[in-house]
Amino acid sequence: MDNTRVEIITIGDEILYGQTLDTNSHWISGEIDKLGFKVIRKTTIGDTESSILKAVQEAGERAQLVLMTGGLGPTNDDLTKPCLAKYFGMDMSFSPDVLEDVTAFLTSKGREVTEPNRKQAIVPVGAKIIRNKNGTAPGMWFEKDGKIYVSMPGVPHEMVEMMTRQVIPDLRAYFQTGLIYHKVVNTVGIGESWLADIIQEWENGLPLHIRLAYLPSSGMVKLRLTATGDNMETMKKDVAQRVETLKPLIEQYIFGYDNVKLEERVGQLLLNQKKTLGLAESCSGGFVSHLITSVPGSSRYFKGSIVSYDNAIKMGWLGVRADTLNEHGAVSEQTVVEMAENARKMLGTDYAISISGIAGTDGGTQEKPVGTVWLALADGQSTITRKVNLGIDRAINIKLSGINALNLLRQRLMEIL
Ligand code: ATP
Ligand code: MG
Repeated sequence: MDNTRVEIITIGDEILYGQTLDTNSHWISGEIDKLGFKVIRKTTIGDTESSILKAVQEAGERAQLVLMTGGLGPTNDDLTKPCLAKYFGMDMSFSPDVLEDVTAFLTSKGREVTEPNRKQAIVPVGAKIIRNKNGTAPGMWFEKDGKIYVSMPGVPHEMVEMMTRQVIPDLRAYFQTGLIYHKVVNTVGIGESWLADIIQEWENGLPLHIRLAYLPSSGMVKLRLTATGDNMETMKKDVAQRVETLKPLIEQYIFGYDNVKLEERVGQLLLNQKKTLGLAESCSGGFVSHLITSVPGSSRYFKGSIVSYDNAIKMGWLGVRADTLNEHGAVSEQTVVEMAENARKMLGTDYAISISGIAGTDGGTQEKPVGTVWLALADGQSTITRKVNLGIDRAINIKLSGINALNLLRQRLMEIL
């Protein structure tokens, strides 16, 4: 059932007040999407009876499945359980099974069972109880007029465990979903609309059981192919075939599949080719080094970085000539060339990348506005340079400088340049 409509309700004053970031609905959305269901709305409400009753009623009018988190704790401000009992017209009664679970959980932590904990064993009669393996508040599954309502604790790891072990398998069975298979093709260095243009014909030729989604993030676009069906082998084969026909169209932009990161791909290429890398970073302040060294085993190919933020360091440590800086400025092709070539020699590496730019928010001029970034890649034979014009957001400029630097090296190592 591909079109099962889902709503998520997160309950808790702390989310409304900005004290807690609602990560629950974000995680649930991803899981629900994988099931092939469609999340149509998310609502966050406070811990009051009227807002809980109203939100559940409204969500139930629009969706076939309503997933709720929060407000199941033992304290008086947690109202979800009695509200739901009221909404579904159920009495509350003591459940020895739930008390046993609560007692076992607390004992395993060396804690005593308090009166408020005992209250957690009072549950709506007629609701299916979902055991909580990571906490004391049980979850609840309600059925009304062919619609399902699930209430889970607000504590993220309790909710995640409950969803994964119990709720998702039960939803699959109840809604008789088919199987879902995702394959993600990761691209860098091309915008979403250009990509869409190149692959339009291929996209139009996709069969009905394979859908394509564009998932853009800064500097990158993920293409996600989702197959639905009841035979996983066939679905995987069909998707693999489509990926094969997609590849030649955008080969130069693809850096990997599924969860692979650009820095991992670059590391793998350096390792395969037994090459080493050094960096000279100015505006990115060490961010590219951070990306590279976030990959386990990077010490096998990464030698180090000179973060030459100040011109004195560019001259004193990297040997950039004073004339170059005076004539062309720190953000210039000539400067990044000297930075990369000298860094390569100083660090004794096969490749060196340099970056110098105006990250913002101030420091821009008419000739060189904020977002102007120069990159160079030296390999001892030649030095390639690139100028990129980014935006006005400092954090994004630093991130995109890093992605551009890694992509330049990736292209060089793949001999696309
Ligand atoms: P428990 O009885 O296990 O505490 P609960 O259902 O009462 O469960 P809450 O009291 O509502 O949960 O919240 C418990 C914790 O979980 C709080 O620290 C809260 O900030 C956090 N939390 C609640 N809702 C969310 C959410 N949507 N996303 C992330 N964290 C959340
Ligand atoms: Mg709460």
